Amino acid sequence: MNKTIRKAAVIGSGIMGSGIAAHLANVGISCILLDVVPKNLTDEETQKGYSLEHPAVRNRLATGAIAKLRKSTPSSLYDDTFAERITAGNLEDHLSHISEVDWVIEVVVENLQVKKDLLNKVERYWKPGTIVSSNTSGISIQEMVADCSEPFQASFLGTHFFNPPRYMKLLEIIPGTKTDPGIVQQMKVFCQNVLGKGVVLAKDTPNFIANRIGTYGLLITLQEMLKNGFTIEEVDAVTGPALGRPKSATFRTLDMVGLDTFVHVADNVYANITDETEKAAFAAPDALTSMVARGWFGEKSGQGFYLKK
Ligand code: NAD
Repeated sequence: MNKTIRKAAVIGSGIMGSGIAAHLANVGISCILLDVVPKNLTDEETQKGYSLEHPAVRNRLATGAIAKLRKSTPSSLYDDTFAERITAGNLEDHLSHISEVDWVIEVVVENLQVKKDLLNKVERYWKPGTIVSSNTSGISIQEMVADCSEPFQASFLGTHFFNPPRYMKLLEIIPGTKTDPGIVQQMKVFCQNVLGKGVVLAKDTPNFIANRIGTYGLLITLQEMLKNGFTIEEVDAVTGPALGRPKSATFRTLDMVGLDTFVHVADNVYANITDETEKAAFAAPDALTSMVARGWFGEKSGQGFYLKK
């Protein structure tokens, strides 16, 4: 199989999904960005007299993500063709589009069961020849499609973009045990040549390569800060600007990643390794999990280690 990728469906319109869709549009690939149907009305929707069945409400999450993209895309990258290349809607009403695309990318929350349920749904509309991938930060690729048919498993792999996906060059490709090697090779060439990424092939081990190392580093930093009473500002100063790397500051990075996502990513390694000493390093501290319980998710919720101005 070596079909050219011209159309994609990106499922999940959060930080990563919307950024991936924007990157695809920038390189000339049309895509449909999909998300769930909201469960509640906003104050503005209530004032307008909308019900939960109103199309503006049903499509709000993905269309809202596109509106945000429009604001955050530099004018040099945002033109009429860019805008025409991305459409948006809710997954429930637009599932049939899956059968029209060459590539489906799953970019929903970092939770195995949610991803499995979604991929089972995708398979119902999937046509052989369509590649399906997950942007998971570290959940087992093979486990995600364990209940799917052999041909679907052969077409499935991990394509792990980094945040922000339009600007970060690294991309990990993770084959599952059943992935067709021809598809792995095709995606490697496509991600390098068309998406302009620096591709690293990784094994399907918990959190692959970058997040196994990166999560460890961030958690050790956090644990040492709590033990020694360092401040957030001190740690960010020495891990960011003072190193000449203004964007690598620990807590700014965690706020950008999303604290909820980071806890899921740490939990995934914790649950999937047996060595007790190594396990301890991946235990998310209570200070972090209580921030998440309070709804402090980082930039996306307005409050994380920093308050978003
Ligand atoms: P996010 O919380 O910003 O967005 C997740 C989106 O998925 C939300 O809009 C949510 O409504 C939607 N969603 C949830 N269930 C869904 C379903 N069943 N169908 C359709 N949409 C659904 O999360 P994110 O940061 O964009 O992360 C998405 C994926 O990318 C995760 O697997 C995460 O681990 C991975 N990832 C995240 C980062 C990062 O820095 N945030 C980096 C690399 C990879």
